[in-house]
Amino acid sequence: MKHQARKRFGQHFLTDQSVLSNLIGEMRPRADDYLVEIGPGLGALTFWLLKAVNHLQVIEIDRDLAEKLRTGAWKDKLTVHEVDVLKFDFRQLQAPFRVVGNLPYNISSPILFALLDVADQVIDQHFMLQKEVIDRMVAAPKTSDYGRLSVMLQAYYDMDHLFDVPPECFDPPPRVMSAIVRMVPKNAETRERIPHALFGRVVATAFSQRRKMLRNTWADVVPESIALEAGIALTARAEEIAPSQFVHVAQLLAMANPD
Ligand code: SAM
Repeated sequence: MKHQARKRFGQHFLTDQSVLSNLIGEMRPRADDYLVEIGPGLGALTFWLLKAVNHLQVIEIDRDLAEKLRTGAWKDKLTVHEVDVLKFDFRQLQAPFRVVGNLPYNISSPILFALLDVADQVIDQHFMLQKEVIDRMVAAPKTSDYGRLSVMLQAYYDMDHLFDVPPECFDPPPRVMSAIVRMVPKNAETRERIPHALFGRVVATAFSQRRKMLRNTWADVVPESIALEAGIALTARAEEIAPSQFVHVAQLLAMANPD
């Protein structure tokens, strides 16, 4: 029986085989890769991945789809985690691992932020997302797409917008343009130098009202002396500040307030 796509799970199934083949060409999966697919759905991408890898971990919330994967032709090559990916503990996997998925667009940002916490375990991530989200992820300062998502992710990952995927490549077609992004965590030394919680706070407050000067948005968070030491005038707005400058501010704050 044909599976009825469930809107609440953001189900848009890929049907265009050339998109899948191009994604595999970009990923270059190898037989012994420890690979995790988020949201395998009906298995369009899973099928292509299993041509290359010996075994695959899949995370699927939809009970019917998880059951199909557990009992279908590929059952011996799959470990099926029937769970909400936002509740999944990635630390239970063997590290380091690779991540791939045509993500449910309604929760793509929370998924990206959850994976940030395990960036030390990840080799790379290839995701299909709403193109508009990828534009924000890779945006440069002083552009309208540049914001909290750009800064938080660019500090931790090198990212490439690989290619766009139009709605007609899916069934049912989404209302928006999609695209594929590659995310590779920066080296451990670079990531470990970032005081994670402080950095998150400095960035979130700066962009809480992006048209306002940092003098206002940072009033209770960043003293002027620290902003100046990082080469930032408090008359600037968040969108003018590079990710490396936000990191610098967080580092200076951490040094000024050691715990
Ligand atoms: N990979 C398939 C494809 O490309 O045809 C399906 C992609 S579809 C956009 C998103 C998939 O993620 C669906 O299978 C959906 O059931 C699953 N999903 C949605 N929310 C989820 C969640 N919170 N945790 C795990 N899987 C989820």
